[in-house]
Amino acid sequence: MEQRGKSRGAQRQDHGVQSSGGAGKLYVVATPIGNLGDISARALAVLAQADLIAAEDTRTTGNLLAHHGISAKLIALHEHNEAQRAAELVARIVAGKSIALVSDAGTPGISDPGALLVAQARQAGVVVCPIPGANAAIAALSASGLVSARFLFYGFLPAKAAARLAALEALREHACALVFYEAPHRVMECVAALAGVLGGERDIVIARELTKLFETIHCCRLDEAGAWLAEDANRQRGEFVLIVSGAQAAAPEGLSAESERILRLLLAELPLKQAAALAAAITGARKNELYARALALRED
Ligand code: SAM
Repeated sequence: MEQRGKSRGAQRQDHGVQSSGGAGKLYVVATPIGNLGDISARALAVLAQADLIAAEDTRTTGNLLAHHGISAKLIALHEHNEAQRAAELVARIVAGKSIALVSDAGTPGISDPGALLVAQARQAGVVVCPIPGANAAIAALSASGLVSARFLFYGFLPAKAAARLAALEALREHACALVFYEAPHRVMECVAALAGVLGGERDIVIARELTKLFETIHCCRLDEAGAWLAEDANRQRGEFVLIVSGAQAAAPEGLSAESERILRLLLAELPLKQAAALAAAITGARKNELYARALALRED
């Protein structure tokens, strides 16, 4: 229920660490993915007030805190010690301490450590508060220009060629856009594998060094991406998000290529029902079949 005298917006504007009846809280705090200014006022307040900051790399986080004039107690929590350290940190929160979890860049737990600590905290009944902010995949999608309502975030593909091919085979039929993270030394072979398995006619958005000095966002056909990257060695440097457009729904058996072509043309200009009816009148194909196909195309 809404509190009297306080708008719904105002209730959401509390900054910093809040007490929760003696127990502490776990704050999952997003930090910048490049530009140090990309951190919210709320995140800075939480980092300044937390009893302890669990950081993937204490030096990296120390630099961020120093940039914002915050001094804090830090403890390392990374992929090699998360399993052991999580229990210890949860015990401290239960005892009343508030802990902020950060990774080196972006949102903890997203292709980064943190999920294990969050799971254990939730299991222990600890309140977990997300402090949202930068994420490379969402930043890339927001500037991609790909008009797809849905996307699948995959993160890093396997490094070994056979496992990578198997992973891509499993993704081939997905209609939603596919979002990958990739390291610079693997970007060329990754793009080749994407084109080989998913088909060169799809679109790819190469989002490199987002929010940084050499930020580049390039869109092309998947089978042109390798040549574009090879053209200039600098294009293969830095951090990458790769977004590939989803699979096109195949025309169902029984619908001729001409019916499909006409339906697609009409669908681009007309409401679905009208497009199916007109396509049926023009081609002589069954209206129901065209309507079902039109629905599938709109879904895509
Ligand atoms: N937790 C992070 C997030 O929320 O985006 C992701 C961390 S993951 C270990 C690092 C990978 O994210 C990089 O290898 C790259 O694929 C992607 N990434 C991170 N920062 C980026 C940036 N500024 N530009 C492009 N990609 C970036």
